[in-house]
Amino acid sequence: MTRIPLIAGNWKMHKTGPQAVETARQLAKLCSDVKNVDVMIAPTYLSLPLVAASVAGTNVKIGAQNLYFEKEGAFTGEVSADMIKAAGASYVIIGHSERRQYFGETDSSVGKKINSAIQSGLKPVLCIGETEKQRDEEKTFLILDKQVSDGLKGFVREELKDLVLAYEPVWAIGTGKSASVQQVRQVHEYLRSLLEKLFAKPFANQTRILYGGSVKPENVVELMDIEDVDGALVGGASLDADKFIKIIKYNI
Ligand code: PEP
Repeated sequence: MTRIPLIAGNWKMHKTGPQAVETARQLAKLCSDVKNVDVMIAPTYLSLPLVAASVAGTNVKIGAQNLYFEKEGAFTGEVSADMIKAAGASYVIIGHSERRQYFGETDSSVGKKINSAIQSGLKPVLCIGETEKQRDEEKTFLILDKQVSDGLKGFVREELKDLVLAYEPVWAIGTGKSASVQQVRQVHEYLRSLLEKLFAKPFANQTRILYGGSVKPENVVELMDIEDVDGALVGGASLDADKFIKIIKYNI
């Protein structure tokens, strides 16, 4: 089973609308000859429709960085999956560690958000990862098992056909210190077998598992060489089109 790699850029709380559009346009131009790699960028909610319109019909797909699981109603400040989809997104990042850390995201809210994404036809990118303390205490696999099992509880595999899993060790995000090849290999192998245990082998074989945490042009090749790594979720290095394209074109 060949899994098409996905290189995704999480722009977090960066760029005004015009700045986001400019970078997205540059990126789309640089991506015009990209084949066999899916490319996604996740701008802020405010920039999302502008960016989506500016790269429509190109190789660059759009994701949101979050959603709220209710369809509509009195939920001040929130945005629903349908709204995101209508604005031009095809992916949504769910359970990013910054949301878990600063905004009270839990495995239970993550599950509801995945459900809502699926109902609206958005591809969920489920982020999981251990903190430095949890790794030092040798709880990495316990934590990952819980995040995956609880986040995906109650779903049948057909519902999760577009799921993307992103392993992002919290201690590697934005620190410049990526996990080692050996650490990534070990975790991704574990996650593949966990998906098999939960949803059977064909599902495990078809599901993309990304690595995220200080991915840059200098380390992308060794990370993408790992058998169970099917792409990257990139923060800082995705903000600049000239830098991000070097990650996207890792195999050229
Ligand atoms: C991220 O925010 O998902 C991320 C991986 O950030 P960075 O690449 O900057 O470590």
